[in-house]
Amino acid sequence: MIIDCHGHYTTAPKELQKWRDAQIAALKDAKHPPSSKGTVAISDDQIRESLENAQLKIQRERGTDVTIFSPRAAGMGHHLGNETTSRHWSEHCNELIHRVCTLYPQNFVGVCQLPQTPGVSPANCVAELERCVRDFGFVGCNLNPDPSGGYWTDPPLTDKFWYPIYEKMVELDVPAMIHVSTSCNPNFHTTGGHYINGDTTAFMQLISEPKLFKDFPTLKFVIPHGGGAVPYHWGRYRGLAQDMGRPPLKDLLLGNVFFDTCVYHRPGIELLLKVIPADNILFASEMVGAVKGIDPDTGHYYDDTKRYLDAIDWIEPADREKIFQGNVSKVYPRFAKRAKK
Ligand SMILES: [Zn+2]
Repeated sequence: MIIDCHGHYTTAPKELQKWRDAQIAALKDAKHPPSSKGTVAISDDQIRESLENAQLKIQRERGTDVTIFSPRAAGMGHHLGNETTSRHWSEHCNELIHRVCTLYPQNFVGVCQLPQTPGVSPANCVAELERCVRDFGFVGCNLNPDPSGGYWTDPPLTDKFWYPIYEKMVELDVPAMIHVSTSCNPNFHTTGGHYINGDTTAFMQLISEPKLFKDFPTLKFVIPHGGGAVPYHWGRYRGLAQDMGRPPLKDLLLGNVFFDTCVYHRPGIELLLKVIPADNILFASEMVGAVKGIDPDTGHYYDDTKRYLDAIDWIEPADREKIFQGNVSKVYPRFAKRAKK
């Protein structure tokens, strides 16, 4: 089985965005406070239509079996409105993912968006995480390390500020993909700057304060987009850790931190595989997502990451199995339990 651990519902029916637009418009008009969650009217047929010519078609064409699927990351927009805004929006997005996973249980397994808000304790995300895991059968969450959208106003991920959500993740045995949302800082392009910065910044935060994984030895993070700049600069991070008197990175973090393969060219994938142990790499493409086009040099979609992996003949068969399937059971234990059912 080939499992893609990183896909977003970027093709959701337009009614979802319409609801969101109305919610945001209401924030600006004090006469219409966004106090009610309301409903998003989307039929099952609309959901089928939105996937048949997109994610499902791509799965079939590329030969992947199942996608760990979450709401559109750039759409999370945690900086907008307040806690209630974020809660209602996250609930709608997660409910839609649940419907996708119910309609196509063989193709999609859910991961939730959290109702984060800058400056507000992630304790307020616990109930939604619990609902998504226990009621919907989701296997993980996306945790935004910067709910401000490019201004980094909350403490680092190692701060006790974040502990309430970690406690619940550990209790439920679900990992978080560290995933920023849109950038409202014009210095950072969302998918080209902010995403890669977010990945790299989160990793360095984990080196800087190793107490986190002493407090939560079973806590697991997936750093997407191939780990941002981390594999390329592995020597820098090893050296920094050494200068700080930390143990080798392998001992410090690799029991808890994993990387996906959302790297959109073969040399990048080869570098990732040479630097990071196969035990810490999970196959992913982030389709349909950040980069939609075809590489004129190869004639294939940039985000067809399976093709790069398939073309590399020096990957040991056992490692290939771990990357495409085996590591998911380790990082997402609920995925494995679900598969056994
Ligand atoms: Zn993503």
